Amino acid sequence: MNFDYGSVLLAVGASGAALSFTLFTNWLRQRGSGFLMTWSASMAIVVLSVTAFAFFNASGNLFLGAAAGILLTTAISLHYGGLVQFRDGRLPVRTVIVLSAIWALPLATAFALGFDGLGFWLVNGFSAALVFYCGVGYWRMRSESRASITIIACLHHFLAATFVLCIIVGIQEAPLYLVNGSPQNWAEVLNLVASVIALTGIGGLLITVHQERISRRHQHNALTDALTGLRNRRALFEFYEGEVVPQNTGIIVLDLDEFKVLNDTYGHAVGDMVLRNFAGLLEGLVEPRDMAIRLGGEEFVLILPDRSTMEALALAELVRASAARMVHDANGKQITCTVSAGVSFAEKAGKSLDTLLRKADNALYLSKRNGRNRVTAPDSQAA
Ligand code: GH3
Ligand code: MG
Ligand code: MG
Repeated sequence: MNFDYGSVLLAVGASGAALSFTLFTNWLRQRGSGFLMTWSASMAIVVLSVTAFAFFNASGNLFLGAAAGILLTTAISLHYGGLVQFRDGRLPVRTVIVLSAIWALPLATAFALGFDGLGFWLVNGFSAALVFYCGVGYWRMRSESRASITIIACLHHFLAATFVLCIIVGIQEAPLYLVNGSPQNWAEVLNLVASVIALTGIGGLLITVHQERISRRHQHNALTDALTGLRNRRALFEFYEGEVVPQNTGIIVLDLDEFKVLNDTYGHAVGDMVLRNFAGLLEGLVEPRDMAIRLGGEEFVLILPDRSTMEALALAELVRASAARMVHDANGKQITCTVSAGVSFAEKAGKSLDTLLRKADNALYLSKRNGRNRVTAPDSQAA
């Protein structure tokens, strides 16, 4: 099939415009996701570049040729900025400006001296390098959304390869000076077709990746306790949903002592701070394989896989002693808050989380009854 150069150029412009608009409307709904705006601006500049190319082809005006090339490399530099912004949360403005300028200066010089053929080699060369580099950047990020980002990276590399073809064919066919417009060989047409595929594919997938990130964040928030950052009750029950607790899992239920009095004496804000400090203490004492959860109010639970009863009891005692030593600043006054604990243990598989939590709760009840600030082992008898 033969593609007409002008029609394919128009298709690149049209898909760039549609994509820019889609990214912009997505940004309007998600103002915090600035990379959507950056990508949208980058696409808008692609459209300007395509327009300049079209006019250059019609007029042979070297100024338009230079503008088209500079706009294209600026658009790709900004696209790289969007990648960094998506990855790190901040647009690297200086890098984008420096990148754009590095490409713009030799391009402008080549066109100003009348070497428009050379100018196009440079445009293709710079574009190939930048697009390839963006592809590498996305490839490195692919753990975030494996399928989508892998395809995004591959589309970049595919597009970069067609820019390289343009240079090879351009060097063979075109002299340093061109007559009337940009080179229009098969490689250029292939590059334009690849651009349509890459623009629409990358654009659609970037929006998908962004949506996947949002839904992961929602899911994370739904399973995280907002005050302490620990996992919440829902996370615990979702984790064990329909499953029995594995053998040799220790469970420690913790409840801060006389917390209502502390709240009433020093205020809710101080109570919140004590809860956060205690959560931080738990995070510091558990291992990565463990789970620290705020069940609600001033109640916490630790799930400890692959432990003996003695190890679980030892950790409960460590938490209790550390909490008792921990000093909190209540509006200038140094206060402490003790914790009581109850421990249960899955010696063999087959016990449900509910059963083990109930056992640990019973043990906790004994800790409270026997004077608080203590740990009670599983199956202890009431004193
Ligand atoms: P005990 O030693 O028997 O456990 O007594 P307690 O006062 O700690 O227990 P109680 O259940 O009577 O009171 C718990 C208090 O925890 C009551 C409630 O106001 C407070 N609380 C629950 N959630 C929060 C919270 O998110 N922030 C603050 N500051 N207080 C909370
Ligand atoms: Mg309680
Ligand atoms: Mg309490």
